[in-house]
Amino acid sequence: MESLLDDIQSVLYSAEDIRRRVKELGAELSSWYRDEVPLVVGILKGASYFLADLTREMPIPLEIDYMVVSSYGTSTRSSGVVRILKDLDYDISGRHVLLVEDIIDTGLTLRYLVDILARRNPKSLKIVTLLDKPARRKVDLVPDLVGFTAPDEFLVGYGLDYAERYRNLPFVGILKSRVYAEQR
Ligand code: 5GP
Ligand code: MG
Ligand code: MG
Repeated sequence: MESLLDDIQSVLYSAEDIRRRVKELGAELSSWYRDEVPLVVGILKGASYFLADLTREMPIPLEIDYMVVSSYGTSTRSSGVVRILKDLDYDISGRHVLLVEDIIDTGLTLRYLVDILARRNPKSLKIVTLLDKPARRKVDLVPDLVGFTAPDEFLVGYGLDYAERYRNLPFVGILKSRVYAEQR
């Protein structure tokens, strides 16, 4: 039987590390939105596991929506040209919007999205990301809340894919470079 585990160089954040940190993030966000009903927006597909766990650590009234975006580029690098494949179901004007991302790398994808959403006049627009790689940033984009500041490695698991695989690993790990060869 083929195992995804054979392709992992090392586990960076274990399921338990993630659970503990997500609990803290949920508590922090619950206090931010104590008096509001935020619209929590997950960017699919990467943020799906994070959003599901995070919102279960937020015992406040909230609503959930999703966007599907595709960023042109290779499997390991984004280009900053973003296509919206599925837009929000709800109008966000006057709403408190919390964008939930799996990882911010160059920042190109989110910079583009934030600019689009800001034009729809939300009352507030904040970003929480599970992982941040600030060393690789190409545009000015600072998330409001970060789970883990990650090293410059290609990470998979807990929603993060390589060529659509590995999302279902319960931890975040470093992918062996032989899997993606010279792509990056
Ligand atoms: P950015 O536009 O900030 O460079 O990249 C954003 C997207 O690129 C992320 O949402 C993710 O889909 C992908 N990405 C960036 N770094 C990684 C990584 O280390 N692993 C995986 N699996 N995807 C990444
Ligand atoms: Mg993402
Ligand atoms: Mg991806």
